Amino acid sequence: MPHFPTDEDYQNLFRDFPDVFYWNDTEHEYRASICVGNGWVSLIRKLIEALQDQAKTEGTRLPVITDIKSKYGNMSVSADYTTAAMDDIIEDFEDISGSICETCGASFAKQQLTAGWVTSMCQLCERRN
Ligand SMILES: [Zn+2]
Repeated sequence: MPHFPTDEDYQNLFRDFPDVFYWNDTEHEYRASICVGNGWVSLIRKLIEALQDQAKTEGTRLPVITDIKSKYGNMSVSADYTTAAMDDIIEDFEDISGSICETCGASFAKQQLTAGWVTSMCQLCERRN
């Protein structure tokens, strides 16, 4: 089941980077599933730009991101057609995500356990929760 973006940031992501998200033109369908908070959207943008640069450097095709989710408070990215260097880039961003608030994007988040679910969250969002 494709996951359809419900808010503007996701729609912009898919629109700006159709090649990386497997845009199916005939069926107007996104193959990628993104299930993380808005706070990580700019991180996802930076990741894709880094992957695009890497593809250019290596002279390879672009990777296809199939799944982005939150796993134990870190962003977890699944992608096809990656090179070893691209896998390293993805791992770096997954590490960075642990200190970025998944809710608001603040860069001083800590891992919080909320209702049995680990999330990266800043103190402000934690208080609002
Ligand atoms: Zn926050």
